[in-house]
Amino acid sequence: MLWFVLTTGACNLRCQYCGGGFPPEYSPPRPVYGAEKLVESIRRLDPDPVIFFYGGEPLVNPKLIMEVMDLLPEARYGIQTNGLLYRQLPEEYWARFHRVLLSIDGVEEITDRWRGRGVYRRVLKALRFLRELQRRRGGPGAVIARMAVTHDTVIDRDVLHLLLDLGFDKAHWQLDAVWSPPWPIGRWARESYLPGLRRLAKWVAEKPWERLSRVVPFHGIVSALYNGGYRWYPCGAGRDAVAVNTDGRILACPIAVREEWAVLGRLGEWRGQLAHPRLLPERCRRCSYLPLCGGRCLYAQMEDAYWPRELLEELDWVTRRTIDIVLSVVVPAVERALEKGLMEPSSVYYDPLEESTEVIP
Ligand code: SF4
Ligand code: SF4
Repeated sequence: MLWFVLTTGACNLRCQYCGGGFPPEYSPPRPVYGAEKLVESIRRLDPDPVIFFYGGEPLVNPKLIMEVMDLLPEARYGIQTNGLLYRQLPEEYWARFHRVLLSIDGVEEITDRWRGRGVYRRVLKALRFLRELQRRRGGPGAVIARMAVTHDTVIDRDVLHLLLDLGFDKAHWQLDAVWSPPWPIGRWARESYLPGLRRLAKWVAEKPWERLSRVVPFHGIVSALYNGGYRWYPCGAGRDAVAVNTDGRILACPIAVREEWAVLGRLGEWRGQLAHPRLLPERCRRCSYLPLCGGRCLYAQMEDAYWPRELLEELDWVTRRTIDIVLSVVVPAVERALEKGLMEPSSVYYDPLEESTEVIP
């Protein structure tokens, strides 16, 4: 099971699509429980935990990270961070991470426009530190660029910049949809995003044995096709993944700190009860793309009042066309590579719970 542990509700940045952490009344800046209590619960409920530190910005509270990693050395660990405070955590902890997800949106101009001036260069410092650590100590396992994709993004330019120019192991992205004010996502997708995705898919199709695993959304969709499809949200929200908020509540989704439907219980009292299957809406259960989409995002499905219905339908349309591009461009290349023995069948498999990714942008 995947456990998101919010070390704090506070953040050291104020990115435009997010606004900077959670209000303290919903997610206090410091946990109200001790690390021992958290570790005792995880041990009792889960023999094979994957633990990702999350926030706010998790490095605002490195103490909890160190305590948990010391108390539960057998778990697999990861972190989702903006990386700016990387010096707050000693390198032996960094080296133990199985995955590090660093927030960066693409080229410098785009990253700084949305995340703040100078952020790009500071993230690069963290990346250089992690790369050097990988060489010297053999860890962290993989460094993944975690992008927020806005109407300014040129998807193939920005993903390839992160993978080829900067040397991230992989890239994953989320669309700036639903939690930002409404914007014409369908028009942008037609004019920029989908043509860019097609170019990116062609790049992957040239050498899928090397490149498929580097573009997380493509890998996750191809994996679903070959491995029976998703029966729930790919991120696992509330069924295979839970979040421990700093106030001790167990949540189905790490960003749903305000929403009652997301509360599964309280630390110490929670017996492992999971989100109700009804939280996958009828609309998705009837959709022919469900096996490859999984419903995309529980939070967006539940909080559908932020955007007008026609924009949510455009978002579904973008998701379906994204899947179509993977099916028409990437999958035939994977088929050929498998037939020729250039790719191992096992390399097609992707488990988003190991990396805390959502698969569908
Ligand atoms: S494309 Fe839309 S309606 Fe279909 S499964 Fe995905 S989120 Fe649900
Ligand atoms: S994809 Fe949606 S439901 Fe899943 S963790 Fe992210 S915000 Fe929560």
